[in-house]
Amino acid sequence: MKIYGPVPSWRLGNSLGVDLVEAPKGYNKICSYDCVYCQLGHTGFKTKVLKPVPIKHKDFLILKKRIEETKPDYITFSGEGEPTLNLNFGYAARCIKQLTNIPLAVLTNASFVHDKRIRQGLNICDLVIAKIDAPNQELFEKINNPYKGILLADIIKGIKLLKTRVAIQTLLFSYDKLTNADNKTIKGLIEVYRDINNTNPINIFLGTAYRPSDKKELNAISENRLKQIALKINQETGIKVNYYKEKQPKTVSRDISPESLEKELFDLLKRRPCTKEDISTRFGRLNVSGILSSLIKKGVLEEKIKGNKKYFFIKQNG
Ligand code: SF4
Repeated sequence: MKIYGPVPSWRLGNSLGVDLVEAPKGYNKICSYDCVYCQLGHTGFKTKVLKPVPIKHKDFLILKKRIEETKPDYITFSGEGEPTLNLNFGYAARCIKQLTNIPLAVLTNASFVHDKRIRQGLNICDLVIAKIDAPNQELFEKINNPYKGILLADIIKGIKLLKTRVAIQTLLFSYDKLTNADNKTIKGLIEVYRDINNTNPINIFLGTAYRPSDKKELNAISENRLKQIALKINQETGIKVNYYKEKQPKTVSRDISPESLEKELFDLLKRRPCTKEDISTRFGRLNVSGILSSLIKKGVLEEKIKGNKKYFFIKQNG
């Protein structure tokens, strides 16, 4: 289990990341999907094998200390891939709930939510943010490239059986001729949201591809269009919709030693590419410019531009 951040999240404020999976050596992530827009790049290690990955007691002590130092708004399972691939997910959630009153969220692609063991773990969390980007299997396969045999129908069925607070997250984008922001797809998504909401009331987070991925031609949807779509969904379903708006990251007040900075920065950027502004609001009064330039010179970090922003990434195989 790795602790990283808190990251600045447009949905959750300062969100302290807990990563329960570890990409095998030589791979950037481990996931059951290979989404066209993934900020971590192509999924080299795609799997649907669920297995218990051991969690050490000392990891919870590290988490406790980081919570005290950074006072996050949320603790969130996310990271180098799909957190529910680890069958110890429920155990980790239970331990964290005993450790703190800070709300616990999980960012999941929901591919295993039809599995009762996974639902039991998800139900321990205060908020499950489940990904649905397409209204039908054909588009689901084009956008999310799921491991063979994963069915959108099972995912929808599984989400309806959850007993905790659920938000559906949809990332709207266009890439070459592929998009899910056209009127026909939005109409289909509205049917899916309505169907889930009828059984299990949800919120919706509409995101877009505002961060770079390994595909230069990937386009984000404008804030205006997101707003228009959010309004339409709300008018037709009554569901509360939050959509991505660019905003200032909330500062994390903390004292961190310069010695810990490089390691923490690495753990953060490995899982979440950030702008310099994002980074400098994470580490108290420490000046991060010097360390960023030195890591770029060493070939550990690389910069990618998206829109008018520069993001720092861990260089693949760097
Ligand atoms: S589910 Fe998340 S981690 Fe997996 S490929 Fe999609 S965006 Fe990347």
